[in-house]
Amino acid sequence: MARIGALEAGGTKMVLSVGTPDGRVLEREEIPTQGPDDCVDKMVDWFSSRNIDALGIGAFGPTDVNPKSKTYGQILETPKLAWRHFDFLDAFKSLNVPIGYDTDVNVACLGEVTYGAARGLDTVIYITVGTGVGIGAMIGGKLLHGMLHPEAGHVILQVRPGDEGNCVCPYHDACLEGLAAGPSIEHRWGAKGFELADKPEVWELESDYLAQGLTDFVLCYSPQKIIMGGGVMKQTQLFPLVRQKLLKYLNGYLVLPELQDIDHYVVEAGCKGDQGVLGCIELGRRVLEG
Ligand code: ADP
Ligand code: ZN
Repeated sequence: MARIGALEAGGTKMVLSVGTPDGRVLEREEIPTQGPDDCVDKMVDWFSSRNIDALGIGAFGPTDVNPKSKTYGQILETPKLAWRHFDFLDAFKSLNVPIGYDTDVNVACLGEVTYGAARGLDTVIYITVGTGVGIGAMIGGKLLHGMLHPEAGHVILQVRPGDEGNCVCPYHDACLEGLAAGPSIEHRWGAKGFELADKPEVWELESDYLAQGLTDFVLCYSPQKIIMGGGVMKQTQLFPLVRQKLLKYLNGYLVLPELQDIDHYVVEAGCKGDQGVLGCIELGRRVLEG
């Protein structure tokens, strides 16, 4: 059976795996994301010694995911200076295998559609709420690309009264990532999210911002399901709050069975943390099998 390499290239860690085309993970290793000089040779060696037939890469953005573009496979302008213009496809070309390339969140969305909570669906949004807020989208069976890829973590929100001045995004005064990602929680409350688990006011406000973002996504993309992952969503008390507030913001405008069954509409990842790895494997399988 074919062996598919999977590289989930995140801002915090690189997850390297080998799996089978039907989504069995055979082997896996994590290394911290430092600069390319510190980890790329290691990663190339790791895959080249494992006899893989294809590789799927899900990378942090912004990155060029357009196969027709000259800079396809490169990281674009990023605050992670060492990675600016780093070329993932070039770095792994010595492996001599076909490579599938997309964003980490699009790949996680693919993992959930193939193996997780969104099996059988074709229009699905995946949201990670962690160090940043990233959105992956499959629309009508295709991972969403356009000029680039969705950067919907930066949709503009309404700041809640009393929370003015707390958006930490360097680009926007009031965006979802700047108001709701982990660093924003820490800035606002002076402690990390996991230390604030028993403070209802933290999650009340957090869920309001997440629900504002979700409202936009529901109205724009009409997803059949929304999957939420990332470190902050480990606070699972957020789920019922986000669901209630999403319905409050929609305010009865959409009358649909999916929304009437809201507990199954906004859900945790079915792959339980493996959605990125499994999505990379599926991406690799697709380039191998066409
Ligand atoms: P990344 O986004 O870097 O890939 P994570 O998804 O783990 O990684 O997100 C890290 C962020 O999530 C940090 O800001 C951290 O404080 C926050 N976080 C991690 N675990 C928890 C938790 N149990 N509860 C609340 N916040 C958490
Ligand atoms: Zn922003």
